[in-house]
Amino acid sequence: MNLVQHVADTVAEHGDRPAIVFEGREQTYEEFWEQTGQFAQALADRGIGADDRVAIYLPNVPQFVTAFHGTLRAGGAIVPMNPQYKSRELEHMLGDSEAKAVVTLPDLVQHVDAVREDTDVEFVVTVGDGGDVSFEEFLADDTLDIVERDADDVAAQPYTSGTTGTPKGVLLTHENLGSNADQGAGPIPGGIRPDDRHLGVLPLFHIYGMTVTMNSTLFNGGSYYPVPEWNAPEVIDLVETHDITLIHAVPAMYNDIISQPDAEEFDLSSVRFANSGGSGLPMEVLERFEELYGVELYEGYGLTETSPVTHANHAGDRRKGSIGKPLEGVSSRIVDHNFEELPPVERGPLAEDDAELDEVVGELVISGPNVMKGYYERPEANEEAFTHADGKRWFHTGDLGYYDEDGFYYIVDRKKHMINTAGYNVYPREVEELLFEHPDVADAAVVGVPDERRGETVKAFVVPTPDATATPDDIREYCLERLAEYKHPREVEFVDELPRTTTGKVQKFELAGEE
Ligand code: AMP
Repeated sequence: MNLVQHVADTVAEHGDRPAIVFEGREQTYEEFWEQTGQFAQALADRGIGADDRVAIYLPNVPQFVTAFHGTLRAGGAIVPMNPQYKSRELEHMLGDSEAKAVVTLPDLVQHVDAVREDTDVEFVVTVGDGGDVSFEEFLADDTLDIVERDADDVAAQPYTSGTTGTPKGVLLTHENLGSNADQGAGPIPGGIRPDDRHLGVLPLFHIYGMTVTMNSTLFNGGSYYPVPEWNAPEVIDLVETHDITLIHAVPAMYNDIISQPDAEEFDLSSVRFANSGGSGLPMEVLERFEELYGVELYEGYGLTETSPVTHANHAGDRRKGSIGKPLEGVSSRIVDHNFEELPPVERGPLAEDDAELDEVVGELVISGPNVMKGYYERPEANEEAFTHADGKRWFHTGDLGYYDEDGFYYIVDRKKHMINTAGYNVYPREVEELLFEHPDVADAAVVGVPDERRGETVKAFVVPTPDATATPDDIREYCLERLAEYKHPREVEFVDELPRTTTGKVQKFELAGEE
């Protein structure tokens, strides 16, 4: 068993089709597979094999894909690292994972060099000049056969973004990644087909891009279009020029597309399936996107620890405002703090002020073949993350939600984002949804800030649209008219932009002024 066998199967069937298309150049499956074998052979020549870690510190470029599959083919596991990281962040990940090699860009070598002494890194391969050896020189003349692994052996060790505390290494096995590449393609009508052209805007260092765009495509013979950096007009141009058929992206990207001055002129008619995940999709963004382009936008949900996708709306079976139903093979429950299952609502989503919410909102827990083996060398975190019940091992997502009688799930917010103001619970997501409905609001995030009287109070950060006339006080009034008094943001601050991670999540701890 080895995940890369799925690619070998594709090569046997679709060898001369384009696997990767980058900056107008096509690499066929045969060519890709050969290069992957040469990369694997080069690792083996340097003594890197079963269970060794290779760090990939690259944006979305074809060499990421080769290094990923080449490392797995040699029996090793990859440690993906965000190319925005600097040496401080690398030091922890390289040290913790004991990575033996790094694949990176010439401009990033300095950050590796700054900490290299304290790590086990034996060599650095660069896409271009610099480092110890260039990617082209590194490739061996021969190709290595697939090194057999167990389903339970680690294939990837991403580090969770973790808004606080030190990032933890997530152990994802060949089975985890293999099963989720299939599960993740399930919501697409007919699955991914060889004539599909899949947009690669989700970063490959993040599990969502790795599984749902890269692996799902390569396991099914489609073409993958890596995009190193997000730029809405350029991405739309790529979609139009290459007749992209599949888009997986985060809400911030969809919001950026619909906010472009010439948004109405974009032609997305080639797209047969579009999905949003990674954070909650504001209803306003969903509806505006569908109205502008006539393309349905399906929301899904997942986490790094679940490889990632666990829930999704399916073509022909969706409910707006919901994260959809659990994917095939995934068990999901909403539980209270005693791990008792909570009852479903009749039909969701519930209105935000529905009193029933108090009775039905609990933590979402997941079981399935895509759930991680565990956190690397973190016995305490593993103890907290799992509950064994009814013959299953349940992973605690840390997200609060509820479900309905038709089997659709709804995320209310992240447990740790909940604001407690004078004893009342406020879910920031509810206030954010309302802010998005205001015509002068381009982007918004809500956090709890310390307050002497109430413990915490609600604060909104708002990015106004370029022609906005509303003042912060008008926005506050607007919320007060539409929400229970304790929920309205007593403070509203206008900002130029929100601090976001590359995967579109607002860094709330930064807004709240925490370390
Ligand atoms: P990560 O491990 O970086 O993939 O982040 C996982 C977290 O993203 C989840 O625990 C959720 O808090 C959030 N998330 C992902 N998809 C959604 C969604 N559709 N709605 C709300 N939150 C989401």
